[in-house]
Parts: sequence; structure tokens; C-alpha cells
Amino acid sequence: MRQAHRRSAPVDVYNIETDTSNYFVDSILVHNCHAIQSRNALATRTMRTIASDRRIGLSGTWHGNNFSGAYAPVDWVWPGLLSPSYYSWLDEWAEVKMQCPKCFADVESDDEQCGRCYLTFTRKKRPISSVVGEKNPGAFVKSLPCYFRAEPFPQPPPALEVVVDITPDQRAQYEDLEAQAVTWVRDHDGIEVPIVADLPIVQRQRLRTAALGELALDGEGEIFFADDCKSAKLVALRGVLDEFDRAAGRKEKAVIFTDSKRFARVTARRMQAAGYRTVLWTGDVGETARERLKADFVEDRADYIVASIASLSEGVDGLQRVCSKVVWLSRSENALLNQQSLRRIWRIGVDQAAFAQVDIIARRTLDDGTLRRLEATQTRNRAQMGLTA
Ligand SMILES: [Zn+2]
Repeated sequence: MRQAHRRSAPVDVYNIETDTSNYFVDSILVHNCHAIQSRNALATRTMRTIASDRRIGLSGTWHGNNFSGAYAPVDWVWPGLLSPSYYSWLDEWAEVKMQCPKCFADVESDDEQCGRCYLTFTRKKRPISSVVGEKNPGAFVKSLPCYFRAEPFPQPPPALEVVVDITPDQRAQYEDLEAQAVTWVRDHDGIEVPIVADLPIVQRQRLRTAALGELALDGEGEIFFADDCKSAKLVALRGVLDEFDRAAGRKEKAVIFTDSKRFARVTARRMQAAGYRTVLWTGDVGETARERLKADFVEDRADYIVASIASLSEGVDGLQRVCSKVVWLSRSENALLNQQSLRRIWRIGVDQAAFAQVDIIARRTLDDGTLRRLEATQTRNRAQMGLTA
């Protein structure tokens, strides 16, 4: 049956819509094989249906941002090699910790009650497990029949931090939002201490957005950034870009990232209005337009790319040959995306000696780890009160 469907073309390139059932090929090479993840994802199902003698997966981050992601790509490359049960594979290899489903405090799997929020565990509300890493780091890869590792590109130098104070109006907006996320209670001495629940990502993202610039409401009650919104970060951005030029003694190109598409748009418009040769790169920009934007940048018709982090994280090569500067107006909640976006510049071909990345951080916001500090205070306070964190 296999022979009947053997394809004669030396190389076929399939995309995700190709009907691949009944195909047989000699070798399959999957680029960005971390896309083979959840069992039901289209990419996973598609790849499983193609029979082949050899399977090769390539990725710079092949198990995504959590060790649990190591199962699916390996299970695709070597069907039957791993335990057919994902959970018994996890048992064997992964470092797992149990958490309270309500407050995410660490608990033991046989605890009857959460030590922090006193939730009583039942069949429906039982501790959840989360994978924190590999039991024995590196051991799983060593157990595989074949694994090639490229010599790693050196780690990028850490980002320089430029700290700004947000405007009073912005502070008020920020604190309004923060108040929805943090509860204050009195401790034994009558001092107010914050109880910081694990903030849902949506809320954290909103806080980060509020740290970017002053928000306004449109007619529909939707939050947006006006083109002329006040933003301490944009003032600082100008200073950072001018300093790049001054230090280099010439015009320095830069890629400017923010996790907010709206703020990217405002930033690009403001820079264009101020005479900075700037192109805007977001998820709304199609494939052809991107090629044009990239050409403008590489062929020196533009000095700056303002990009939303998610839209410039994969598949773009060549920017690093003309540019070695990155500015972060904000970071994404997704650390993997930040890392991949940085890799558009910090990659083979970049002028490593000239490379610099700068974080523009709003003081006393999520940017500078305020909540992390609050959480640490909370843990300390609880310890002092004789409670386990
Ligand atoms: Zn709890």
C-alpha cells in the first residue's frame, strides 16, 4: 500500500492545508517542530498522517517554554518509543509540583486542605499539578536514539534599564486597574498588607498596557491610546534612540518592541510625525507587505521598525545584518515570545560588539516587578505570622 502512493518528486513542500492522508514520503523535515504540541492541534494531526521512513524535527526551542512540551515532538519522530500515556511519561521524567486550584499555593498531593486559603479539597476541587522542569535536567535528551545540538549562539547581553515615572493621570489609571487585582487586609499589628492572588494573564497584560501611556475611552467605552496620548515611555524612547546615534557617531537602526499592537501603532505614527523614518510591523500586516517593510529597512529607506512582539517572533532573517539595537517599550507575558523576538536581531550575522538592548521600565508598575516584591512581602508577612506561604 505504501508503494502505491510513493511520491516521485524529490522534495515536496506541504502546508497545513495540504491533504496528506495516504501520502508516503522518504523523509520529513519539520521546521519549528515545537508546533507539534497538543494531540488535537491541526499541525500534530497533519504530521501524524504522513507515513515516512525518516522524520526530523528542527527547532531552537523544541519543547516550547515548558518541559511537558518535549513529549509530542519526540512521540512524532519515534512513534512508540515513549510510553503511550503522556501522564506516565510525565511521571517518569518531569518534576511536578502540586498546587491549590484556588490560590496556587504549593500543597502535597495527599493534603486534605490548602494551608494558605483553607480550601478543602474534594473530587471536583483537587490539587492541580504543574510541570516545573525535568527531574534530571538533560537526561531525557540523552535517552533519545538520535539528537543533534547546534553549538549554542551565545546568550545576549542583558538589557540596560531606563526607568521612567509615569504621568499622574496614568498613575491613577494604573492604580484603578491594580486595585481590581490586589486585595489589602490588616495583619496582626493593624498594618495593611496586600494579598496578591496569581494575576490572570489578561489582567497582567492590562496593567502593562496602562504603564505604556495615558489611556482614553472611545464612544463605545473601549480603551485606546490617542495619537497624542501622554507617555513617559515615548519621551524616554527618543532619548534612547538619540543616544544610540550619539554613541555610534552615526544613524543607528533599531527595532522597537511592545506587546500592545495599539501602542505600536501610536508609537510609529508619532515617530513618523517627528521625522524618524519608521515602519510599523504588526499582525495586521500581510506577508507581501512585510517583505516590503523588511526591504525598506535593509535597503536603508527606513531606520526604525516598531513591532508588536507576537508579529515579529518567527521566520524573519536578515534584519540583524543592518541593525544591532533593540528597545523594549513593554514585554510580553509570554517569555518564549520575548526570546524569539529578540532572536530576530540577536542571531548569526549580528554585530555582537555593537549589540545593545534597552528596557524602558515604568517605575512602580508590573514592569519593575512591583507585584513580585509585593508577593515577597506577603510571603515574609505570612512567615512572621506563623503561616506557611
Ligand atoms: Zn489555596
